[in-house]
Amino acid sequence: MPKSYAIGIDLGTTYSCVAVYNQYSIIDIVPSDLGNTTPSYVAFTANGRLVGESAKAQATLNPNNTVFDAKRLIGRRFEELEEELKHFPFTVVNKGGVPKIEVEEDGQIKTFSPEEISAIILGKMKDIAETYLECEVKNAVITVPAFFSDSARQATKNAGIIAGLNVLRIINEPTAAAIAYGLDKKSVGEKNVLIFDLGGGTFDVSVLSIDDGIFEVKATCGDTRLGGEDFDNLLVKRFIEMFKQKYNKDLKRDKGALTLLRKSCEKAKRILSSELVATVAVEVDGADLEGTISRTEFESLCEPLFEKTLVPVEQALADAGLDSSEIADIVIVGGSTRIPRIRTILSDYFGGKQLNCSINPDEAIAYGAAVQASVLNGDQVVAHQDMLLLDVCPISLGIATAGGQMTTLIKRNTTIPTSEMKVFSTTVDGQTTVLVQVYEGESTLVRENSLLGRFQLSGFPAAPARVPQIEVTFEVDANGILKVSAVERNSGKGSAITIQSPDSYRLTPADVERMSSEAEVKRQQDKRFGEKRKAETQLRCCLDQFRQTIDSCQLPSKDRIAIANILDDTTQWLESSSAEVEVEELVQRQRDVELHCQPIIAKHFEVSEKASAPDLNDTEDVHQSGLTIEELSDEEEEM
Ligand code: AMP
Repeated sequence: MPKSYAIGIDLGTTYSCVAVYNQYSIIDIVPSDLGNTTPSYVAFTANGRLVGESAKAQATLNPNNTVFDAKRLIGRRFEELEEELKHFPFTVVNKGGVPKIEVEEDGQIKTFSPEEISAIILGKMKDIAETYLECEVKNAVITVPAFFSDSARQATKNAGIIAGLNVLRIINEPTAAAIAYGLDKKSVGEKNVLIFDLGGGTFDVSVLSIDDGIFEVKATCGDTRLGGEDFDNLLVKRFIEMFKQKYNKDLKRDKGALTLLRKSCEKAKRILSSELVATVAVEVDGADLEGTISRTEFESLCEPLFEKTLVPVEQALADAGLDSSEIADIVIVGGSTRIPRIRTILSDYFGGKQLNCSINPDEAIAYGAAVQASVLNGDQVVAHQDMLLLDVCPISLGIATAGGQMTTLIKRNTTIPTSEMKVFSTTVDGQTTVLVQVYEGESTLVRENSLLGRFQLSGFPAAPARVPQIEVTFEVDANGILKVSAVERNSGKGSAITIQSPDSYRLTPADVERMSSEAEVKRQQDKRFGEKRKAETQLRCCLDQFRQTIDSCQLPSKDRIAIANILDDTTQWLESSSAEVEVEELVQRQRDVELHCQPIIAKHFEVSEKASAPDLNDTEDVHQSGLTIEELSDEEEEM
């Protein structure tokens, strides 16, 4: 049995999945409320927060306060999000260049960072695992798209910390899928594999080589804005137009109707993966709007997007220096790879090669993450112990130099962890300060790349231009997270500086700590709320059972009145005080009721004819009689 469990979490744009290496030495996909995946949805309601299936189910009724797609926002600047914002029924505001999600909670308008929303989802995945394993789980590996920027990786790690997890590592989703895939296959010699991962909101292509349990990511490429939701959007657009023409109803501005329509379109899309025609239906203001779409229509509607998936495939192959014929296996991952046309386009590109779909596309990433988690956790993962994972930096990293040029320190597709140092100097005589501006991107001009952060190095001795020697070091850790330091060699000034610019859009460690404690308080509140709801339900059930018992048994009227009084008193107490009441009081009340009522009923059964007593072999009868027993907790047992 492992000393403590470590879980693998696939934090998906639309769905998340958690897996664990269990005590029977197998990787288990942990079942959630309804199936093996959990919608990445968070809702703020009058009855508290909802996460997953329950949040998604009420999205139509509560569109402004139901948040999804946080993964599209995480680690990004507000100005980059114009396209995404068009599709959200909830409000995203610009707070100092950073997107924040605005919702109503407890009668107040509150804003949440994408990290906090992701943390709530991660917390749910942690809960799902804990319920299943019946113990606390802290250690986790979380996956991110291979094309995620440094800040998005850091933000995801922060989300894990806020959720109360110890993030062992952030790994790329295709790499995780490759782990699952490579372990399933026993191959001899090195082979190149292409992982094609088309999920709900993101698309990743990776070229890996797998050799005797060693995985090396040779190249990664992708599109953080392409996925199943884009196909849904096209369908939504089509049906808005159709319903406008057919029924003269404009759904564009009706948020509730749009959420319903989106749900129906997504369902139709799934159906079209196995059927030739699907129906989209919504009820708006009591009117049923309905239309159909054929698979062929769906395919021609989405064809440009489907074709677009080949661009990163070509790029990844080129980056890996491989020809398509050198790919031994093509692995498809992500729910959207169930679309037949996508499979055909991909297979055709590789000359009709059969695709490898042996891995369940929804679970492969969590599976691989759990393998990696258990290896990092020191579990005796017999089959995977020698596994070595080499990952790459997906985007080039560098600094701005004179004339707005990008000087790259770490090239795209460099194996990580890695560090690189280059020496720079001043451009003006007497200069005692330099501004180190860190960018990621492939252009030679920084204005076409993304600014990650900047800091000043100052206070070194004045000297003529190009005399001071300033060492700039980039370190990318195993999670793909970047640290930059600069030091002026002569004076030794400024060692170990990391990026902390005023316009940085990342959370500071203090922010993460604050959010982590706030989230913990909220988790405890929610837990307490859940326990209270359970205790209240149990007390109500207990009262109902005794009520049914006195109705069905021929009790002497004195006894019947005595029990009825107790039940009425308790019901009255519950109705008048249920808002403020504590769990312990509810449990105590239930004990009191049982303590008073059970002996009276038991006495009656002793004296009555055996025939009139409940059949103790009949669980229903026993249940009805109010004679049910419950397991004691350990503390109760010791009393
Ligand atoms: P993932 O992020 O990998 O969980 O993928 C979720 C995406 O896969 C969503 O956009 C789903 O609508 C889509 N999806 C799931 N099943 C199917 C299916 N049978 N056909 C088409 N798309 C699907």
